Formats: sequence, C-alpha cells, structure tokens
Amino acid sequence: LHRNPGELEFHQAVREVFDSLGPVLHKNPQYVDAAVLERICEPERQIIFRVPWVDDKGHVQSNRGFRVEFNSALGPYKGGLRFHPSVYLGIVKFLGFEQIFKNSLTGMPIGGGKGGSDFDPRGKSDGEVMRFCQSFMTELYRHIGEYTDVPAGDIGVGGREIGYLFGQYKRITNRYESGVLTGKGVSWGGSLVRTEATGYGTVLFAQDMLRTRGLSLDGRRVVVSGSGNVAIYAIDKAQQLGANVVACSDSTGSVVDEKGIDVALLKQIKEVERRPISVYAERRGAGAVFRPGVRVWDIQADVALPCATQNELDGSDARQLIDSGVIAVAEGANMPTTPDAVAMFQDAGVLFAPGKAANAGGVATSALEMQQNASRDAWSFDYTEDRLSAIMSGIHDRCAYTADEYGHPGNYVMGANIAGFTKVADAMLALGVI
Ligand code: NDP
Repeated sequence: LHRNPGELEFHQAVREVFDSLGPVLHKNPQYVDAAVLERICEPERQIIFRVPWVDDKGHVQSNRGFRVEFNSALGPYKGGLRFHPSVYLGIVKFLGFEQIFKNSLTGMPIGGGKGGSDFDPRGKSDGEVMRFCQSFMTELYRHIGEYTDVPAGDIGVGGREIGYLFGQYKRITNRYESGVLTGKGVSWGGSLVRTEATGYGTVLFAQDMLRTRGLSLDGRRVVVSGSGNVAIYAIDKAQQLGANVVACSDSTGSVVDEKGIDVALLKQIKEVERRPISVYAERRGAGAVFRPGVRVWDIQADVALPCATQNELDGSDARQLIDSGVIAVAEGANMPTTPDAVAMFQDAGVLFAPGKAANAGGVATSALEMQQNASRDAWSFDYTEDRLSAIMSGIHDRCAYTADEYGHPGNYVMGANIAGFTKVADAMLALGVI
C-alpha cells in the first residue's frame, strides 16, 4: 500500500485476487520463492503523458494520458483505453491488473495492460474528440504495436474514437498496421461480433451458471445497469434467450420499462444520438418511467447484470436484490460489485460471476480480431459468434473446475482468480527473473 499511495481501486483489485491465492501458494511454494506476487503487482512499465488539444473556441486544453503495460508473460499487452473525468493512475492500474488474469482466462496469447485519460468526451463535438484522439496518439504511437501493446476501447472509447486513434497512428507511422488497435470498424480491419462481444459473453456466462442448477434465462426478469456498449448487447442477448429485461440506466438515472427494453430505441438514443436515458422514456411512451439519480438495484429481478462502472453495486444494493429473490449476478463491468456485496451474494447462495471471467468475451473477440488481421482474413458473424460462445463456455468450465479442485465448489471468484493467476505465474517462472 505504501508503494502506491492513494490508488484505492488498485488496492481493492489486488486484495481481491490475493485473497483467493492462499491455497495456491500452499500447493506451489515455487511462486513464493520466485517473488511472483511482488512482481505481478508491479507494472512492467507505466507511461504518463500530457495531451494538449484545441477546443472549438480556439482555447488550448490539457489532459493527462496513461498507458500501464502491466504484464507481458503471455503475449503483447492488451487492454482498453478509458476516457472519463474520473480516470487517474489508481483506476488505470486496477483495470490493468484485472486484465492480466482476464486475458489469461481466455486461453488466448495476450498479456495485460490498460490506459486512458481524464478527458470527458460528453458534450464535446466530433472535431474536439478527433483533435484530442490525434494528440493522444501522437505520444502513444511510440509505445504500441502489433507485437508490443494493442489497445482497444472502454468507457468513453468506442468505434468513433478508435477510428481517430487508428487514423493518426497510420499517418504518423506510414504503416497500415491493423493489429495495433482492436475495436476497429468492420470495413477497415475490425471484426464482426466485437461490438456485441462483451455484453453477449456476459449473458452466455450467466446462462452457463444457471445451467449448473438446471435453470435458464428463459422467462427470467433481468435488470441491467448502464446503457453503453456492454449494457446494450447484454440486454440484446438476454432477450434473445427469452428473458424480460425491465430496467437499465446511465449516469443520470434509470428507466423501468415493464414491457421489456426496446433495444433498437436504446441504441438510437445512446449510440447514435448520444443523449441521456430520460429521452428513452419520453420516446417509448406509456409504461416506461425515468427515475432521475436512481439506480436499478431496487427493482425485483431474478438476474442482475451490473454493466456500467466500478463499485456501482454495494452492500445495501445487494441486500435489496437478495431480499427480492435474485438468483444470479454476472458482472459485465469491471469490479462493479463492492467486496461486502460479493460476500453477501456468496453467503446467500446467489450464483456470482466476477467480471474478469464474465466480461472476458470482449477481449477474447479482440484477440480474434488480431488473428483475422494477422491472416488478412474476415470471418462471418456466425463463425465468430460460435468462437465467442466456445471461449465463454471454456472460461466458465475452467473457473468451475478450478473452484472444485481447490475445495470451493461454485465459487467463481476463487476459480477465476486461481485459474487466471496460475497460468501467468507459470509463464513468469519459465521466463526467468525479468
Ligand atoms: P460505455 O462508455 O459504452 O458505457 C458506460 C455506461 O456506464 C454508460 O451508460 C454510462 O453512462 C455509465 N457510466 C459510466 N460511468 C459511470 C458512473 N461513474 N456512474 C454511473 N454510470 C456510469 O462503456 P462500456 O459499456 O464499454 O464499459 C462499461 C463497463 O464494462 C466498464 O467497467 C468497462 O471497463 C467494462 N468492460 C468493457 C468492455 C468493452 O468491450 N467495452 C470489455 C470488458 C469490460 P453515460 O452514458 O451517462 O455516460
């Protein structure tokens, strides 16, 4: 803690993983001898840089940019960029740390990293976003590459931002190096299913968990927090599997729509028009209600999918969900559930999927995008979705099997942390003291 003062989210993420590792270290003293724990929570490299840009009024603005290259034992650093005013080193390091184990769990050859900026894209014009992204890449380009570090999107970074970033990379380097970024548009090197992958994967994981109890999503009442990339496609897949998604939210409040969220309308408002979620309720008409400043956890649900941001579901929210009969919670976002809430779900026998397992479908499909770029190929939607489904089932089974093996059946937190950790730790041992 004293080496990383004030980085609260990073401390939380490290504690969450290390809490699971007692039995692993007992069984594998070689990890202790090689100081794997000390090394794994120290990033291989951290880059912090100034991002100057000019707004539409001609005023010079200055933001801070980050890229934390955390661990490359399994492959090039891989992880998204987040543009949000709350971004500081502690958030980027928590996300980068989580990414090491998530990427390991996918079974793909990718290391862990994360980056971003305290730039707030909300309320900015396209031109301002473009100039910011160009300035950001003017520094970042020298640190990334297909074999080095491959960034992608996260909160505030979607297809538009990846386009501006890729354009500037191409211009500076004079290389059409498709594999340097993922989340690209399909016509210029992107992969089908990447947009849908995180949300779809989260719901597939929830379905796999339910199956272990002979249950399914069909006919279930579901609540989802957020209405961004992950939330929209989680809602979409849950509805495809027969669930009724009755609520979602954004940073201004939530909507309750007992008829079931209209995904096409939600996409139009959040993806195309970039407007607040209150507009959904206005346009949807009878039955849909906007609740300013209120989250979704007070609404009765069988399944809850937190898909917005870290620490958005705390102990009192967990209490409400448990009392209303929730049977499964799957994290689409990174670390959305506070540690006390996780413990409450587990004590109450609620199926609980941690983000590093349940939301790994996004980065796994990014790795599929890298494969297509490397072979200059473009796969069909159905083929790519089949690959995603197989990867998610593999992650589910690996977590479940590992939890059993270490004497904690049904504990997906232990399973994910241990399975993710041991693969990276073994690679670190094999590569020597580096
Ligand atoms: P988006 O920017 O597309 O959407 C984020 C959503 O969460 C928006 O509805 C936003 O509201 C809301 N939100 C963001 N910050 C806050 C906050 N502080 N308080 C309340 N609501 C907030 O991001 P993504 O959907 O891509 O990411 C969501 C989560 O999923 C993050 O934790 C991310 O790290 C994680 N994730 C994303 C992956 C991906 O592939 N995109 C992969 C794996 C994990 P508003 O619209 O008002 O800003």
